[in-house]
Amino acid sequence: MDLSFSPAEESFRAEVKEFIDKEFTADMQDVLKKSPTNYLDPERQRIWQKALYEQGWAAPKWPVEHGGTGWTAAEHYIYETEISKAGAPRPIAFGARMVGPVIIQFGRPDQKERFLPRILAFDDWWCQGYSEPGSGSDLASLSTRAVRDGDHYVVNGSKIWTTLAQHADWIFCLVRTSTEGKRQEGISFLLIDMNTPGIRVEPIVLIDGEQPPHHEVNQVFFDDVRVPVENRIGEENQGWTYAKYLLEFERGGSYGASIRSGIEKVRYIASQENSNGRPLIEEPDFRTKIARLEMEVRAVEISELRILGALGAGERPGAESSVLKMRGTELGQAVTELTMQALGYYAQPHEIEYLTPGSNVEPLGPEYAPTVTPRYFNYRKASIYGGSNEIQHNIIAKLILGL
Ligand SMILES: Cc1cc2nc3c(=O)[nH]c(=O)nc-3n(C[C@H](O)[C@H](O)[C@H](O)COP(=O)(O)OP(=O)(O)OC[C@H]3O[C@@H](n4cnc5c(N)ncnc54)[C@H](O)[C@@H]3O)c2cc1C
Repeated sequence: MDLSFSPAEESFRAEVKEFIDKEFTADMQDVLKKSPTNYLDPERQRIWQKALYEQGWAAPKWPVEHGGTGWTAAEHYIYETEISKAGAPRPIAFGARMVGPVIIQFGRPDQKERFLPRILAFDDWWCQGYSEPGSGSDLASLSTRAVRDGDHYVVNGSKIWTTLAQHADWIFCLVRTSTEGKRQEGISFLLIDMNTPGIRVEPIVLIDGEQPPHHEVNQVFFDDVRVPVENRIGEENQGWTYAKYLLEFERGGSYGASIRSGIEKVRYIASQENSNGRPLIEEPDFRTKIARLEMEVRAVEISELRILGALGAGERPGAESSVLKMRGTELGQAVTELTMQALGYYAQPHEIEYLTPGSNVEPLGPEYAPTVTPRYFNYRKASIYGGSNEIQHNIIAKLILGL
């Protein structure tokens, strides 16, 4: 099997690198260098997403007729690799990666016309209203009510853990429209303008100490919120079907490239830090840990390529996206652990002053140290959001293994 890239693919790689050189500015790099996540502040995030849009890369996996790129699996791989190597920002997933595919698949023509171009151009920032207090893993128990009143629904209830809702223009929401029959058959999928009267967003401050407006998650309250019926996706009470479709796209993202660049960072740190009088990278035990991770990440990448191949052939990601999410997040977390091990003592201090955006405080140790521990803690979330890894095990057991 020939695994080398063709001249056309290498020239595509050069195009991606050129884009990154031009658009991933020194200013953005400085911000991300101090960030526990891969997101910029809203203003810079919008600039980055607009640049992707101008380049035609805002939604690489969408069908070409809706603004996708039509890339081959190899081109997706090259793109992800170069973006991760450069440490460039991740696009906000809720529009292009999550609600976009649902609108494409189940939306009416007027909904496609209204929402898809704005998602591509990042004119609208979306957030995800699935989880509720008491309804996370058992999502079908959700109780936010939407009661029909003429050509509107009146929505009451609350959503929780809503990532970056403080910046969002729109929220896609699962709401209960019936309490009869099976729980899954009484749920509808609504698109709600965040400026509608009756919506309140409250920050949730986590142990990482990120204070508003830099916090990551929120609780969103709905108090007699009037939503036009025309903002419903598909049929009333069929929202569970659309919700599950969305989750396949949410879970089936790209993991391998960023894990590989994380491993490169481990190598670098281990070449700078000493152990028993020599660089840590020369320790056989440590080298074995890196090699193990590298082998595992290859397997994840092959699964990713399989899913990309299926998407390219017009298929949906399927339950295999649960395998990807589970292994991808486990390995991603293993890399953050190894990075802390490589760093040794410098993983201990929480250098909040250095990490504060715009501060001119010097780090206590090497410049690569202060974000390592915050990123370790922050990435614990990855095996919880989008359905915890225990739930992914259940899906794999049922839908793939037929148990
Ligand atoms: C940082 C972060 C961001 C998030 N962002 C969003 C967002 O933007 N929008 C949104 O809608 N939601 C979001 N979530 C919510 C996320 O989807 C839920 O936290 C997740 O589905 C788990 O639900 P829960 O927190 O209610 O935990 P629970 O469902 O109470 O689960 C608690 C524990 O029990 C385990 N468990 C539960 N049921 C089973 C079972 N049947 N079998 C085996 N184990 C089980 C779980 O794996 C978990 O370990 C986010 C979560 C986090 C942490």
